[in-house]
Amino acid sequence: MATTLSPNTSARLAPPASLSPLTVPKRLLLGPGPSNADPRVIAAMNQQPIGHLDAAYLAMMDEVQELLRYTWQTTNPLTYAVAGTGSAAMEATIANAVEPGDRVLVAVKGYFGYRLVDMAQRYGADVVTIHRPWGEAFTLEELTAALKEHRPAVLAIVHAETSTGVRQPLEGLGSACADHDCLLLVDTVTSLGGVPIFLDEWQVDLAYSCSQKGLSCAPGISPFTMSPRAVAKLERRRQPVANWYLDAALLRKYWGPERVYHHTAPVNLTYALREALRLLVEEGLEPRWQRHQQTATYFWQGLADLGLTCHVEESLRLPTLTTVRVPNGVDAKAVGRQLMTDYNIEVGGGLGELGGKVWRIGLMGYNSQPEHVDTLLHALGTVLH
Ligand code: PLP
Repeated sequence: MATTLSPNTSARLAPPASLSPLTVPKRLLLGPGPSNADPRVIAAMNQQPIGHLDAAYLAMMDEVQELLRYTWQTTNPLTYAVAGTGSAAMEATIANAVEPGDRVLVAVKGYFGYRLVDMAQRYGADVVTIHRPWGEAFTLEELTAALKEHRPAVLAIVHAETSTGVRQPLEGLGSACADHDCLLLVDTVTSLGGVPIFLDEWQVDLAYSCSQKGLSCAPGISPFTMSPRAVAKLERRRQPVANWYLDAALLRKYWGPERVYHHTAPVNLTYALREALRLLVEEGLEPRWQRHQQTATYFWQGLADLGLTCHVEESLRLPTLTTVRVPNGVDAKAVGRQLMTDYNIEVGGGLGELGGKVWRIGLMGYNSQPEHVDTLLHALGTVLH
């Protein structure tokens, strides 16, 4: 038997120059995400993978589902983590809830509302939109009037608009949707783990989030949930879900008791998410929401002391993400660059309509601490004066 490869199996391309082992710079991530992960989450992740059908892994999946239900305050049986970032979980809600021709109403008040519009169109929805200026929220009356006018099958709305820093009040919307035979789909990417959410009480039918913000985990694994009403629509579909990878009808056979292989799960990210959610439970949901509110209030006071103003009125301001107005004559990008080069601090610039007009400052999960506020305010004060 030949023990050497034949000559024509030699590599066709020359290897790249050899690199030294990876070193990652230390950053304080105070932008719109990712935030720094809790070191205990990184330690949990930093272990050997096990098989995605190993009994120990299956038990871990059950734990993650239960922890996610608590974090979202829902009893939805169909609650799991999508292998992908928040956008994958976002697409999962649209792919599973929408059939071609369904009317989808998207309430747009920032950048991520438009992403929902784009996705819904790609799945063949008849999309209609309503709008609020970037920095404001919808009233229940506006949303109810739009439900009456457009009669959508799905209403999609962002709870925490990361492009504007606005918290969209959701009380009463779920029952208005149910009255109009419409499913309520909510983006909780920048709220989960940092802002009070009561999915069942608010009668939310589909929701998704991410791991890298309020949950203090690495990016790449994303919470997803469907209410029994949303599952009933899934079961009535005339056509299969157009996205195989995100099809909840297939995935629930892997996450549920049947344990049917679907894909090779990102097992190390599951370790990380389990640890992040375990730490959230250890801290307690209410103390965690309180911590985010206190840290944000302390930050807002510090901004006022520096003569800076927030873009959003206080009653609608997210504790997780603040949009700070860039003073006249200041180059927003140059300030961001200097914070990075001189202080290793990352902040975000404005997106879309707010480009160049605001900085986006995240105080989320592990990073929601007064010491980080002090560090940032000191750096910002020095750079600006
Ligand atoms: N929705 C909102 C409100 C977001 O802020 C983001 C990302 O920041 C996303 C969706 C997309 O999430 P990801 O970047 O994890 O794909």
